[in-house]
Amino acid sequence: MRQNFVAGNWKMNLTLPEARALTTDIVRLLADELPGARPQLVLCPPFPLLLAVGEVLGQSGPALGAQNFHQMESGAYTGEVSAKQLHSVGCQYVILGHSERRQHFREDNALLAQKLKTALAAGLQVIFCVGESLATREADETFDFIGQQLAEGLFGLSDAEMEQVVIAYEPIWAIGTGRTASSAQAQEVHAFIRQQVAAAYDAGIAANTTILYGGSCNAQNARELFSQPDVDGGLIGGASLKARDFVDISKSF
Ligand code: PEP
Repeated sequence: MRQNFVAGNWKMNLTLPEARALTTDIVRLLADELPGARPQLVLCPPFPLLLAVGEVLGQSGPALGAQNFHQMESGAYTGEVSAKQLHSVGCQYVILGHSERRQHFREDNALLAQKLKTALAAGLQVIFCVGESLATREADETFDFIGQQLAEGLFGLSDAEMEQVVIAYEPIWAIGTGRTASSAQAQEVHAFIRQQVAAAYDAGIAANTTILYGGSCNAQNARELFSQPDVDGGLIGGASLKARDFVDISKSF
């Protein structure tokens, strides 16, 4: 279902007391300032904090998400975490294909396609990230590059599986850099992604797909970005670590 949507990616930040405090502040601010209809909100803490954050969230609205999992269902993979385990501790969502995992952990499109199937089979919805480097953009290859990420990583899914996926466009040059894509740059790529979904599936599925922007999105620029016709919300890194900023972004529709 296409919906306004804001997800916070906490990355490898926060201790247990800090995570409890941040979640408590977010829940309180949301209750005070967004008591009615809200966008779909998701918090994605690191693994050891999931249960505690889930407990603070309770039934308050924001859903729990994770940042990674292993492609195998279970077994002798010391140090790894399965999608089923994430689901069992209350996760509804998981991020997949983040550029930091593609870059530092060599996750390629083929592996992501495999992980996607594992996540969906475990009952998780997936926030699937795509995005180009600065070199790719400057070579004028952004659409080819993202088209390939989608075709190889995502489009092996069935129609029904595709409905469990949110796509996030995250230009690598904008992640954690303070350099945001302009709203026109974001809209252009979001419209392209929606066209690709329509070509691979159909216009109805494309119109129903939630597509987020990520990359130095903050309380100052969110409204302009979210006002674009194909931008349905944001995947937020740094600014999701401040309750005031995360809630302000959640109010930017
Ligand atoms: C991210 O890592 O998904 C992200 C968008 O980070 P930031 O908002 O800090 O650029």
